[in-house]
Amino acid sequence: MNITIVGGGFGGVKAALELSKDANNNITLISDKEDFQYYPALYGTATGHSHLQSWVPLGKIFASKLNVDVVIDNITRVDPTTKSLNGASDTVYKYDRLILSLGSITTYFGIKGLDEFSYGIKSYEEIKELKHHLYSAIVENREVEKEYVIIGGGPTGVELASAMREYTACHMSK
Ligand SMILES: Cc1cc2nc3c(=O)[nH]c(=O)nc-3n(C[C@H](O)[C@H](O)[C@H](O)COP(=O)(O)OP(=O)(O)OC[C@H]3O[C@@H](n4cnc5c(N)ncnc54)[C@H](O)[C@@H]3O)c2cc1C
Repeated sequence: MNITIVGGGFGGVKAALELSKDANNNITLISDKEDFQYYPALYGTATGHSHLQSWVPLGKIFASKLNVDVVIDNITRVDPTTKSLNGASDTVYKYDRLILSLGSITTYFGIKGLDEFSYGIKSYEEIKELKHHLYSAIVENREVEKEYVIIGGGPTGVELASAMREYTACHMSK
């Protein structure tokens, strides 16, 4: 069976890994990013740890899976009547079965200024910006007395607060 999965994140990668165990399945995994992003470790990458813990090339994950093709494209249209997908690259993909695992986008709940004036921590593009800022402020310019506010006290906010404390303390003592 030809199975097409759109989205190379948690859901898409897990589905492809499980379905590839059946040699009768031919799987095409389409994602708009070359890497699988491991969100739980992004805060660590922002605070000095290697990016290798936060993102892994999809090609590497599926290198040994001969019935999985990884395609980098942004799907812009689904047509269930012809069982086809359109990619931003102008490619048309046919499928027998389709799995959409597209993730979510950040919401700022209408709080004015939050989007514009804060750093995000949900993608590697955002993490690179925050990492650069922290490195420049804390390591290069030694602005260790600066106040940082983390909005959101869930697991990510708490982990980031702890990692930033450690990062700042480590550079204060040097
Ligand atoms: C900072 C953070 C920390 C987290 N920590 C944890 C944790 O500790 N434990 C836990 O269980 N969960 C955690 N989560 C939640 C977990 O990461 C998500 O629930 C999970 O990633 C959702 O999986 P998904 O496959 O739906 O989406 P994602 O993993 O976001 O994957 C979606 C993929 O689809 C791609 N895509 C989107 N649109 C298109 C398109 N049109 N064409 C092609 N590709 C497209 C995206 O680029 C992305 O690669 C965390 C989330 C965040 C943000």
